[in-house]
Amino acid sequence: MSVKNEPSFRESVDLMFNRAVGLMDLPPGLEQKIRVCNATYTVRFGVRLRGSIHTFTGYRSVHSEHMEPVKGGIRYALGVNQDEVEALAALMTYKCALVEAPFGGSKGGLCIDPRQYDEHELEQITRRFAYELAKRDLIDPSQNVPAPDMGTGEREMAWIADQYARMNTTDINARACVTGKPLNAGGISGRVEATGRGVQYALQEFFRDIRDVDKAGLKGKLDGKRIVVQGLGNVGYHAAKFLAEEDGAQIVGIIERDGALVSDTSMDVDAVRNWIMEHGGVKGYPDATYVENGASVLEADCDILIPAALEGVINLTNADKIKAPLIIEAANGPVTAGADEILRNKGTVIIPDMYANAGGVTVSYFEWVKNLSHIRFGRMQRRQEEARHQLVIDELQRLDDYLGDAWSMSPNFKQKYLKGAGELELVRSGLDDTMRIAYQSMRERWHEEEKVTDLRIAAYLVSIEKVAASYRAKGL
Ligand code: GLU
Repeated sequence: MSVKNEPSFRESVDLMFNRAVGLMDLPPGLEQKIRVCNATYTVRFGVRLRGSIHTFTGYRSVHSEHMEPVKGGIRYALGVNQDEVEALAALMTYKCALVEAPFGGSKGGLCIDPRQYDEHELEQITRRFAYELAKRDLIDPSQNVPAPDMGTGEREMAWIADQYARMNTTDINARACVTGKPLNAGGISGRVEATGRGVQYALQEFFRDIRDVDKAGLKGKLDGKRIVVQGLGNVGYHAAKFLAEEDGAQIVGIIERDGALVSDTSMDVDAVRNWIMEHGGVKGYPDATYVENGASVLEADCDILIPAALEGVINLTNADKIKAPLIIEAANGPVTAGADEILRNKGTVIIPDMYANAGGVTVSYFEWVKNLSHIRFGRMQRRQEEARHQLVIDELQRLDDYLGDAWSMSPNFKQKYLKGAGELELVRSGLDDTMRIAYQSMRERWHEEEKVTDLRIAAYLVSIEKVAASYRAKGL
């Protein structure tokens, strides 16, 4: 979405980057080297469909190769263009650096409305696109590893993985050429929910420090906080669901393509999602009030706003009307540089995209490592850990018997303690740890350095320093 008088998405990212490097002391020229996109490949290819040849335009942009492979999703949407993939690729560089996923940044896109094609057609289109990228090493386990993004998911990733494997029949690491695959095609448990889960962990960490909560003018914990979410796609759905079900937050607004739903009490996120699946939109959903002008609900009175759809939705036209004191950017680039300034001046706290939605690439990293190690997480140690836990339980049981009525193990303790961690538990624990540590690295700068006025600047500083250090270490 672009608004008159407002820079493009890529320019907006560059402006935010410039604000941060203005506070840094980088060697001459390094700033520009980091900021610019290294290369963007445009491909136009034909696919024979419905009796004629259809031409599609796709992109894969590589922003920074200070670490390889480079990483980032592939988006299917009509609005995909070079400026957008370059902005998204840049965000991937900063995101990976911030959460210490050892990748450079990349992003791809195909100009297509996937809803206009059936499954077989989408497979043909995806395989052809994957072929074009793979033959130029723009899909490759050690060079460039795509993942899902808007309009793509496990299904597309499985086609891409298979296409790559057909073209590289002796590559033992072929499965690591793409992440976000279904479990039976080399995926990892918890990848689908990962970005939404990461948003939840990010908010949990935010609410752990009263100074941060204070800065947003909020009080207490996540429990009972009124949330408006824009976009009930993969990211928005999981974030809203987990926050409501596990943290006691109230989902009081849901904005979708065809309008919005508002309610005084928390909505049932699964019921709304099922309604959308069945009816193609939120209109008519019986247990909430329908608002035709969905975007107006961004301005609703709430505690936390979660834009989880497109870029540029909070811009110069509506920034001053946003009432939420806390915004968490689950989407990439939902707040333009101009809107960011307005909101900053108002005191709105923004948890920035490059951190907030980094859960996806974090779990992608785990999947890539799993593929390269050719073994499921926990396979070697799980039973051994269980056996050691059993020793402790046996000793406690002896004590329990000996002490009689005076003491006994708490109910369920045995069961809980004995249960070894499976892949999903390990993925969640790795993701939680990653989100906490990355947040803490921003928080420290935010509270301790006067020039660091907001979390976005903190995020940029932490990540640019890491990218710069890696350039310094290896040379250009
Ligand atoms: N497309 C997601 C993002 O924007 C995931 C990227 C990945 O897993 O490589 O972060």
